[in-house]
Amino acid sequence: MPAKPKKAAGSGKRSAKKKCPICGKPATEASRPFCSERCRDVDLNRWLSDSYRIPAARDDDEDAE
Ligand SMILES: [Zn+2]
Repeated sequence: MPAKPKKAAGSGKRSAKKKCPICGKPATEASRPFCSERCRDVDLNRWLSDSYRIPAARDDDEDAE
């Protein structure tokens, strides 16, 4: 009976776990690359608020009466 070749480091170790870019906790499959929906929301809000203040159309705020 030929010995079956063992699977080289297969099960158990899933693909490299990504860390949540917000808090650094290991990301979950449900809300990767974040650890939770909350962190995903945080990131989204950051992203949105960042794109909201586009330094292009500058209202004459300083020239206000
Ligand atoms: Zn997180």
